[in-house]
Amino acid sequence: MNCPFCKIDEKKILEYGKFVFAIKDQHPVTEGHLLIIPRAHRENYFELTNEELAEVHQLLKICRNRILAQDLSVEGFNVGANCGEVAGQTVFHCHIHLIPRRKGDDSNPRGGVRGVIDSKKSY
Ligand code: AMP
Ligand code: ZN
Repeated sequence: MNCPFCKIDEKKILEYGKFVFAIKDQHPVTEGHLLIIPRAHRENYFELTNEELAEVHQLLKICRNRILAQDLSVEGFNVGANCGEVAGQTVFHCHIHLIPRRKGDDSNPRGGVRGVIDSKKSY
C-alpha cells in the first residue's frame, strides 16, 4: 500500500504516544501546522479505537501547549479531520489537523471550520 503515513520517517516525529504520533504538515496552512496520526492504518477519524482517540486528545493538548510555549503570537487553533473524499480528504490514513492561528493570518477568520462550505461561512 502506498500510504505516506504508514512509512513515516521516525526522525520527523515531534511527539508520540503508544498509539499515535505528531508530525509537521508538509504543506502547512499556517506556521506550526501539525498532524496527529495513528500508527495503525485507519481510513478516517471514525475508525479510531477508544484508546487511540484518548491518545489523540492527549497529544493535541501536548502539541498545543508546546506551540503556545514556543510562539507567543499564537492566540487560537483550528482542530479538524476531513473524513471522506467528498469532505475534502486526500490522504486516506486518518490524521487530525492542529492549525495554530494568529491575529491577522486571514482577512476574515470569523466562522473558522464553518468555511468548509465557503458560501455558508458568514451568517
Ligand atoms: P487531507 O487529507 O485533506 O486532510 O490533507 C492531507 C494533509 O497531509 C495535507 O495537509 C498534506 O500537506 C499532508 N501530507 C501529505 N503527505 C504528507 C507527508 N508525507 N508528510 C507530512 N504531511 C503530509
Ligand atoms: Zn497508512
